[in-house]
Amino acid sequence: MSRETQADSSTGSVRRRLFLGGLVSTLSIGSLGTLGYATRSPAETLEVRVWLSEEAARYDGVDDRLLEYLDALLGYEYWQLELSYGGVVSASTEDGARVTINGEWPRILAAGALGTRDLDPAADVNLLVTDGQMTTAPTGFALPHVASVGGARYLATLPPFDDLETVLDDGSIHRVVENERPTRTIQILLHELGHALGLEHDHGVAFRNGDAVVATPMLSSYAWDPSYDGDRSRCGTVYPSTDDRERTLSLIFSGCAQRELEEYNGGFSL
Ligand SMILES: [Zn+2]
Repeated sequence: MSRETQADSSTGSVRRRLFLGGLVSTLSIGSLGTLGYATRSPAETLEVRVWLSEEAARYDGVDDRLLEYLDALLGYEYWQLELSYGGVVSASTEDGARVTINGEWPRILAAGALGTRDLDPAADVNLLVTDGQMTTAPTGFALPHVASVGGARYLATLPPFDDLETVLDDGSIHRVVENERPTRTIQILLHELGHALGLEHDHGVAFRNGDAVVATPMLSSYAWDPSYDGDRSRCGTVYPSTDDRERTLSLIFSGCAQRELEEYNGGFSL
């Protein structure tokens, strides 16, 4: 059985920044500027737009289901969430990682920002969902403001968000889901979206719930990946041992990640 890992390695942030350097030399600096690299005070609004590839758009209702989940999961009190569906994007590949790694999705957004293409990029996150495979890493990829992920066929089978409500052992209500393909796919989507907003893997946490270990979106399957070398979040939460414990997923960003998001101001230092 294949083991899914996340879209990038623990050196993802370095790789993303190196890649961005290449992107800057490929495109004009001005086109990137219009994608929102200007620094501003902490965001009062968060503009997130979702697009579907041609294959992803073949699944009925996947756009509505995604917006329903993102509306529930990104609706923090510190910003006004402006969530929208951008439409169908024709790309040369359905691979959810490659379409960004090869520069195609960033170039499409840049063309939209420049007005040479009929596509309107959002200020904060531009997420392209494809029907790419979800078995071999990388399955998605992110740059500042830009993200893509595969798995539309699995996302289309997600239950209504409200059906996911789980009462944890301590009595708190959470969104803990089984480590199954559709729920793993939506968590990876959230993981890439988090990267697009500046979050890193160690903003994530893992915690015990009964006999299970729960991993939040930024740590995700790194919680049980022996090659992942972090043992605690950057906020100091030590990760539990996962030996012989059921692996489950939370769709809610950790408190550490949420505090970082609260500081998000629309800019990134390069
Ligand atoms: Zn990652």
